[in-house]
Amino acid sequence: MGQPFKREGDLRDLRSYPRWLQDVVSSTLRQKQRIVEHDFFFLMREARLPKAALRRFLIGAWPTIEQFPRFMAMTLKKLGVGDSPGEDLARRFLIHNIRVEQKHADLWIDWARAVDLTLDDIKGADGIEVPNTLTHWCWYVCDSGNTATAIAATNYAVEGLTGEWASLVCSKPTYAASLPEEIRVSATRWLRVHAHYDDAHPWEALEVIATLLGASPTVAEVEMVRRAIRSTYCYYELGLEYPMASLMHGSFDETASNASTLGALDAA
Ligand code: FE
Repeated sequence: MGQPFKREGDLRDLRSYPRWLQDVVSSTLRQKQRIVEHDFFFLMREARLPKAALRRFLIGAWPTIEQFPRFMAMTLKKLGVGDSPGEDLARRFLIHNIRVEQKHADLWIDWARAVDLTLDDIKGADGIEVPNTLTHWCWYVCDSGNTATAIAATNYAVEGLTGEWASLVCSKPTYAASLPEEIRVSATRWLRVHAHYDDAHPWEALEVIATLLGASPTVAEVEMVRRAIRSTYCYYELGLEYPMASLMHGSFDETASNASTLGALDAA
């Protein structure tokens, strides 16, 4: 590593990170925004998603949610105490957040119950190859990529993007208010913990990446991080086709109601 990096500015301020990492974040921003502003999440916020679409979303994303602590464990197993300041930081970050992500998996199941899905339903789901591309990518990059690249693809890109659309959904009380009162708190807890504006997870991931690669990494190292983030966004967006399919290709009755569902977006 060339010049080392140690953060001095605020954790949640992009200017606290090396120039190269600021460039990576800004050059991938448009791709991220396209997903954050996807119709699917606006419909979720407005409580206009047909139940079938939400069920498909909860089923399709489950393998990524369930395996997230495992992705982190694959990275963790490569890190010994005292290997380098960046590896020490990565180790502490992963050990702490593996527990957090286990909790998030439990909260996902609570959300799934709101649309009458059991754990057996989501575990036994078939035909989810398209959203599973994200899971396979995360597994691959955490198994074979270097630590900075693996953390960029998962803890920065997946969690950062997820936090932003969850914030969008929680920016109005409409979705929560659409749920029966007795399940409202439990069914929206996953959304709320990810929407929490000062959720530090993706920022801490950036700090780990910067500390691992330093202030002046090679062009090849920078490109690996950038490509990993882009790949995550690409597979994430692709995965949304699975729940969107139930809006686009439903039966005649579903299509009629979906037309008005999509039309409602203009008014939102
Ligand atoms: Fe999470």
